[in-house]
Amino acid sequence: MFEDIPVDVSPMYEGERIRAANMFVELAGPKSMGAELVQVEENVEDGKIEVIGPELDAMQEGDIHPLGILIEIQGEHLEKELEGVIERRTHELCNYVKGFMHLNQRDAIWCRVSKEALAAGFKLKHLAKTLSILFKEEFPLIESIAVTILTDPAMVEEFVSRAKDQYQTRDARARELSDEDVDVFYGCVMCQSFAPTHVCVVTPDRTALCGAINWFDCRAAAKMDPEGPIFEVEKGEVLDDVKGEYSNVNSVLMERSQGTVDKVYLHSVFEYPHTSCGCFEAVAFYIPELDGIGIVDRDFRGETPLGIPFSAMAGQCSGGKQVEGFTGLSLEYMRSPKFLQADGGFERIVWLPKEIKDSVEEYIPENMRDKIPTEEDGSTLKEIRSFLEEKGHPIMERMETTTTETPEEE
Ligand code: SF4
Ligand code: ZN
Repeated sequence: MFEDIPVDVSPMYEGERIRAANMFVELAGPKSMGAELVQVEENVEDGKIEVIGPELDAMQEGDIHPLGILIEIQGEHLEKELEGVIERRTHELCNYVKGFMHLNQRDAIWCRVSKEALAAGFKLKHLAKTLSILFKEEFPLIESIAVTILTDPAMVEEFVSRAKDQYQTRDARARELSDEDVDVFYGCVMCQSFAPTHVCVVTPDRTALCGAINWFDCRAAAKMDPEGPIFEVEKGEVLDDVKGEYSNVNSVLMERSQGTVDKVYLHSVFEYPHTSCGCFEAVAFYIPELDGIGIVDRDFRGETPLGIPFSAMAGQCSGGKQVEGFTGLSLEYMRSPKFLQADGGFERIVWLPKEIKDSVEEYIPENMRDKIPTEEDGSTLKEIRSFLEEKGHPIMERMETTTTETPEEE
């Protein structure tokens, strides 16, 4: 089936990392731009493969180019609602290709091609061809598929903006629903291939931490393939509606995490936070010295108030572990009224990168907007503390009261 592809294609290459020394080119990623998008359409010409812009053999070693991956699919039983979940598989399927590395999702993708792959004659048209074969294999509902790879800067730019509109439409839909409005949540174990005890619990208020899958996406996926990696989870008894603890969510977690996680609070970083695989868009982290919570995302390059950058923090709390004081989350979750509600929501946030703050500004309660510092206001605990004092952040009052109380009274 893959006889025309000059490199091996197999799930065994999924964990392959291409380091800078072994890299021919980098595509998309933090130093460029890119996106991936699955669209259910009519009149898709089955098997059509196209590369628009420079192919690999027209690139120079060490180059960084933009990248767009457009996957158009058609099928009698394919619904638009399935786009998000099918799109999320792009990550895994691209990684089956030996010598091609794909990280993240949506417009955060970051890819590399190895020198060996280039030497073997690998081209982007082969990536497109592989994807068209694998997607049809994975999703029998797909009757026709066309894959377009874009590397032309102007076209990628236009494509990224089109993709962002689509993501926005998907996300906005889920914003209209709350956890109370439904009887079932969904679980996703797609990331167990590298985080074997990780189970995402996706609820209307808590979009999956990868930011690519919401409650509606899961509903469509579970309907399409009830035995697949996304499945229904009855809520069961509400044990704590503020923390977000449900009896049956706990039991299902226990079962699907190989017995390692038996309890989760969906809306808190304390005690039993949601586990984190590795593809979270951001991490919420407790800062004991301030008794507050900071947020940092993948795009933030500097140091967090804990004195470490995102990458080091991600290393400490990923892999499916439940680490008190840390939880991976999607940026979309910050737009939910239940965003860390058990911990105080935005009133407990004491630091976050400017870029995130701007993107969720309208969801931050008005009285809090000027009270939460970003890296522009300070990054050390000392700088942050004086900003919080000066602005009258509610955490300062909280700290005064807690320091005068004895621990027994708490
Ligand atoms: Fe599924 Fe969670 Fe992985 Fe997203 S991060 S693919 S929801 S397990
Ligand atoms: Zn993951």
